[in-house]
Amino acid sequence: MRRSELPMNKPTATVPAVPINQSVRHPALEARGLTKFFGEGQAKMTAVDQVEFVAHFGEMVFIVGPSGSGKTTFLSMVSGILRPDAGTVFVNGANIWNFEANALANFRLNTIGFVFQDYHLFPRLTTVENVAIPLILKEKDWDTSLAEAKKILTVVGLENRAEVPPYKLSGGEQQRVAIARAIIGNPDILVLDEPTASLDGDTGRMIISFVKKEILTANRCILIVTHDARINEFADRIVHMENGRITGFDKGTE
Ligand code: ADP
Ligand code: MG
Repeated sequence: MRRSELPMNKPTATVPAVPINQSVRHPALEARGLTKFFGEGQAKMTAVDQVEFVAHFGEMVFIVGPSGSGKTTFLSMVSGILRPDAGTVFVNGANIWNFEANALANFRLNTIGFVFQDYHLFPRLTTVENVAIPLILKEKDWDTSLAEAKKILTVVGLENRAEVPPYKLSGGEQQRVAIARAIIGNPDILVLDEPTASLDGDTGRMIISFVKKEILTANRCILIVTHDARINEFADRIVHMENGRITGFDKGTE
């Protein structure tokens, strides 16, 4: 889906005024009153509790907090994977939780790139085939998809590993394959859940430094969930989460 086709459900009154002759630029992503419960009755708990959050294009935002504080649940809701119980998410001004099923699937495929902690690569496919999957899902033909996947592998420095199955790659290489797959559709928003948790310190820093230099652009917003303080220096902004709530913001140190 192109941006211009996204339904604009946001009341215009909340769009900030901009000078004449400049087009309205929405924040990349806004969470409003975002809430998720799990469990029933006595066991009911609030995983994400009325979160207000805004991220802009050109920004790399870290979300940090202890295990169980609601970070993955938050990411899942902003990525169109998990429906909130209250509140919603606006991406580029469109309320994604008002989308019908097809539009939501398109949104997940075209607007969001998601990198899971443990990569989620298919062991029976080659590296280049793994990267091509989103294009195959978009019904591009096989040869075009593989050719584009090879180009993206070059971006992440793995063009020589294209025909190798991913389990023969190192952890850092597998993470780069997962990133290549997440960006092949040119997503506006890239989301990484604990991308360095399974990597040694140096590899983790190299990956995040690479993402900041090569993947972050003025037209893209990157959210990284982490509790790895070794990479904090790469954040433009750090958001602290605790018990499902945002408890504070820091400016990054770089
Ligand atoms: P984090 O990513 O910060 O470690 P999560 O978002 O995974 O935290 O989890 C937040 C809370 O919600 C935790 O208490 C967790 O046990 C609970 N939780 C997460 N997903 C589910 C689920 N599918 N069913 C029940 N409880 C869940
Ligand atoms: Mg998590």
